[in-house]
Amino acid sequence: MQRVLVFCGSSPGSRPEYAAAAAELGRVLAARGLGLVYGGASVGLMGTIADAALGGGAQVIGVIPERLMEVREVPHRGLTELRVVATMHERKALMAELSDAVAVLPGGAGTLEELFEMYTWSQLGLHDKAIGLLNVAGYWDGLLTMLDRMVAERFLRAEHRHALLVERDPEALLQRLAAQRHRAPDTWLDPQSVPKTRSPASPRPGRM
Ligand code: AMP
Repeated sequence: MQRVLVFCGSSPGSRPEYAAAAAELGRVLAARGLGLVYGGASVGLMGTIADAALGGGAQVIGVIPERLMEVREVPHRGLTELRVVATMHERKALMAELSDAVAVLPGGAGTLEELFEMYTWSQLGLHDKAIGLLNVAGYWDGLLTMLDRMVAERFLRAEHRHALLVERDPEALLQRLAAQRHRAPDTWLDPQSVPKTRSPASPRPGRM
């Protein structure tokens, strides 16, 4: 593991614990000689983690869409590298390409979208990066309850639920991300919902 992709809020959130955890993760990344890849903004938890990682001497690469830079997210001007891309899709693709594992801190809808894209792509076997939630002050508890419900109701496989690492402490999260390289199982379908044999009379895909 060389670079960790971090998704987190472009806002600081209401509790001081959030910024404290972002700063701690930035420092721990630097202390371990790891680089940070993130959305390139100077605001909210995004700015906090970038400042802390830079302060510890880490390489920090920001990836930001041109338009967002103008209207919403003030770019961080002190990064090792700031990559300006055309679209949100390009941003996520480049961030994923540049990194080896994913850590998700508290954040809003943008953070959730980014988490779920990486998580669902991992389910599909499109990448094998480990993904972990930093559950600061129990922020992600509600989401974890929902994921458990998905497993109980057989919309999510238990191994995919457990592939999502959860830790409260940044150092512990990084250790687990480094130790786990997620291997996606062959299928993301519930085995009990897949018919064992295909009837010869079944229509073939593309012929309906
Ligand atoms: P938020 O958690 O809403 O503060 O957003 C955190 C980051 O997610 C910011 O860098 C946003 O630009 C980004 N973001 C917001 N909406 C989306 C989206 N639809 N797709 C990808 N990233 C997004």
